[in-house]
Amino acid sequence: MAAAMALSARRCAWMLHKGVRRLHTVYQAVDLPETHLMLRQTCRDFAEKELAPIAAQLDREHRFPAEQVKKMGSLGLLAMDVPETYGGAGLDYLAYSIAVEEISRGCASTGVIMSVNNTLYLGPVLKYGSEEQKHKWITPFTNGDKIGCFALSEPGNGSDAGAASTVARLVGDEWVLNGTKAWITNAWDAAATVVFATTDKGLKHKGISAFLVPMPTPGLSLGKKEDKMGIRASSTANLIFEDCRIPKDNLLGEEGMGFKIAMQTLDSGRIGIASQALGIAQAALDCAVDYAEKRMAFGAPITKFQAIQFKLADMALALESARLLTWRAAMLKDNGKPYTKEAAMAKLSASEAATSISHQAIQILGGMGYVTEMPAERHYRDARITEIYEGTSEIQRLVIAGQLLKAYRG
Ligand SMILES: Cc1cc2nc3c(=O)[nH]c(=O)nc-3n(C[C@H](O)[C@H](O)[C@H](O)COP(=O)(O)OP(=O)(O)OC[C@H]3O[C@@H](n4cnc5c(N)ncnc54)[C@H](O)[C@@H]3O)c2cc1C
Repeated sequence: MAAAMALSARRCAWMLHKGVRRLHTVYQAVDLPETHLMLRQTCRDFAEKELAPIAAQLDREHRFPAEQVKKMGSLGLLAMDVPETYGGAGLDYLAYSIAVEEISRGCASTGVIMSVNNTLYLGPVLKYGSEEQKHKWITPFTNGDKIGCFALSEPGNGSDAGAASTVARLVGDEWVLNGTKAWITNAWDAAATVVFATTDKGLKHKGISAFLVPMPTPGLSLGKKEDKMGIRASSTANLIFEDCRIPKDNLLGEEGMGFKIAMQTLDSGRIGIASQALGIAQAALDCAVDYAEKRMAFGAPITKFQAIQFKLADMALALESARLLTWRAAMLKDNGKPYTKEAAMAKLSASEAATSISHQAIQILGGMGYVTEMPAERHYRDARITEIYEGTSEIQRLVIAGQLLKAYRG
């Protein structure tokens, strides 16, 4: 564990600065730079050892993984593209995407906790905050001691974010906030939120402003934790503002800039959620491959049946396509190019891949897809397959499954 943890995101960033930064050239579609490969391995090791064994329990108990989040902070995973001056890892969005995928592969709740802190909370503060705000609202949120959240949606408006009904009034030297924000990820565990409220209703979406609000704070209460599926360890709840007073200086960016800040932030947010979906999809595929190799039916492991091979091939195809779209959006962002459309395509593609791959995994697991514990012992294993597969990656195993198992059948 200690050896794996030694290669932190910060160390990868240092290697990039030492001259191995050869990012965003075409060859990356074929392979990742060494730094990113090492980061991926570090995150994979962490997720397998620290997250996967407890993910189901955390989900059942709605329990925030405080200890693991703290460790991720020391690995540099909570502020990945934040410059080192403010305590971040100074990496890029491609690295961020890879890390969120690997963490989510072990625990999808932890993946979204990480994603929201990196992108939805730190992202807008880094881009629109004053120097003073960056030191106050970013640095303490980089090492896992504190995490943040992002409050835009409301019970009455989600997609139509410009119709926000939460209001902020300037009274003397304070803003007074009133209204309810809904579905706020990290709500119960956050020490601050970026919140969007209307400062001039007549200007519609151009009258929305962004604010930095410490949590807890008088006038701000939390709703119940939403009962989600599979990501309950990440708390999602309403934020209820009732005459909540914050200093005038807590305005983020300029008055009326809130809608623009929210939309730009959500572009990056889509890369994070796409990456989380990739991790979920990869975990489902891994599980299906593992089971299909072990489960014997009609005298053979079920991987020998073409219907199962077709399923696994389609699952791998959907996953790899979504991953390339996600990496493309991340690389466009890293290169300062427009990426709104690509990030939206990546999120759609990856989230659909995650749901369809999970569904197919349930089919492959048969009755086992519907329970969490084995009702009977199923410890069969084909020795020849084990031998061939040894030392290969999951995807390689899948390709081998598609290409070679037909031959074994005869
Ligand atoms: C797990 C989870 C975590 C979340 N975390 C956060 C968070 O941290 N912060 C935050 O602010 N919000 C958060 N949200 C809220 C999320 O951003 C909203 O759910 C989302 O914006 C959609 O809004 P809605 O649910 O009100 O759907 P609606 O806006 O009611 O949409 C319903 C359906 O209508 C479709 N639709 C809406 N408008 C159009 C249109 N113009 N054209 C075509 N189709 C349309 C939508 O695509 C959707 O299919 C979270 C939600 C979930 C489920």
